[in-house]
Amino acid sequence: MTHNTDRNFSLFERARAVIPGGVNSPVRAFKAVGGTPRFIGRAQGAYMWDANGTRYIDYIGSWGPMILGHGHPAVLEAVQKAAVDGLSFGAPTEREVELAEAILELMPSMDMVRLVSSGTEAGMSAIRLARGATGRSKILKFEGCYHGHADALLVKAGSGLATFGNATSAGVPPEVVQHTLVLEYNNVVQLEEAFALHGRDLACLMMEPIAGNMNFVRASTEFTRRCRELCTEYGALLVYDEVMTGFRVALGGAQSVYAQQIPGFAPDITVMGKVIGGGMPLAAFGGRREVMEQLAPLGAVYQAGTLSGNPVATACGLATLHEIRKPGFYEALASSTRALVSGLEAAAADEGVPFCADSEGGMFGFFLLPELPQNYAEVMRTDGQRFNRLFHGLLERGVYLAPALYEAGFVSAAHTQDDIAATVAAAREVFKTL
Ligand SMILES: *Cc1c(COP(=O)(O)O)cnc(C)c1O
Repeated sequence: MTHNTDRNFSLFERARAVIPGGVNSPVRAFKAVGGTPRFIGRAQGAYMWDANGTRYIDYIGSWGPMILGHGHPAVLEAVQKAAVDGLSFGAPTEREVELAEAILELMPSMDMVRLVSSGTEAGMSAIRLARGATGRSKILKFEGCYHGHADALLVKAGSGLATFGNATSAGVPPEVVQHTLVLEYNNVVQLEEAFALHGRDLACLMMEPIAGNMNFVRASTEFTRRCRELCTEYGALLVYDEVMTGFRVALGGAQSVYAQQIPGFAPDITVMGKVIGGGMPLAAFGGRREVMEQLAPLGAVYQAGTLSGNPVATACGLATLHEIRKPGFYEALASSTRALVSGLEAAAADEGVPFCADSEGGMFGFFLLPELPQNYAEVMRTDGQRFNRLFHGLLERGVYLAPALYEAGFVSAAHTQDDIAATVAAAREVFKTL
């Protein structure tokens, strides 16, 4: 297709004139992989069609929310009905109570939950709550974990354990990140040292239990156990950012997966987003009652939102939760995801391409590396040029993966065995050319 006939290209040109970089969230611009982003016209089930009418098998699923696939009839019906009854009231509704009850029933570590509109907002509020509840300022996070774009969380590791992080964005003053300590993921020795030095000043440790913003990296059982134990010992709150993993890797989130390995395991605060809104702007944070009761209007930690608990978004979330609670949902989803991952592994092995992959529930990651990485530095050893050739090779063959090597992938309940087989066949062709 020439640029003259490529509607994606002409839309990108128009977009760049009026929106910085042509996109409303940076990764959509294809900067890492090069080329023209696809402007999506519509989607149904496991497929999306771009502005030229080209169909793609979608493994992004709006970066996680679309666990049922696009256009699920029960979800659409709930959203349409809710819209007719009113788009927003700025007053409480029964549906918010229903959604809160449904979330708490599925996530036993939470006694109370507050609804917000984005994962960023939920993560930022969780930090404020942890600081308010403990009366402490410092927070700990891990390199490669993303918790939204709040100032205090846009931080990379400083020069040593005794020093705090450096901002990863312009516009974030050093004073704002001076309380954020950044450590290597899965590094128990560093974790112990950091707590010995700073433990009594830490309001919280915030982590992705399965990191999905450095592709797909599991926290080891030992690392998870020590995070929990050290937080308890030093009086810091353990904040699980399950914006991506919540209702994605299992009905009880990643914490339910770790609770099987570590009896009694639970975080103090959980941050959720993506799947709980089913594609509408909705996120949440929740935790133990005595912590949550620190929030306004009960307590002194302020937090608010004009569109929080929006009636259409909560209808979408409730309808989505209703579907994923059906018996066998996660077994089927996990088995599709495993079929994809093992198919890709086998194809790569046949073609002699170094490759490894992992998955949990409907979330997966793969690496052009001989073994699974354990932290951000290891993830970044991937040959970026090679990843980009794989990405574009698949895109040309109608398979839409995340346009960056540090992003996880998502399978939905709408992906069929035929979709998976077609994806693996396309990957096999591309592997031959890598
Ligand atoms: C997507 C994501 C966020 C941010 O959520 P937004 O809704 O994009 O603000 C936070 N944490 C994790 C783990 C995420 O994957």
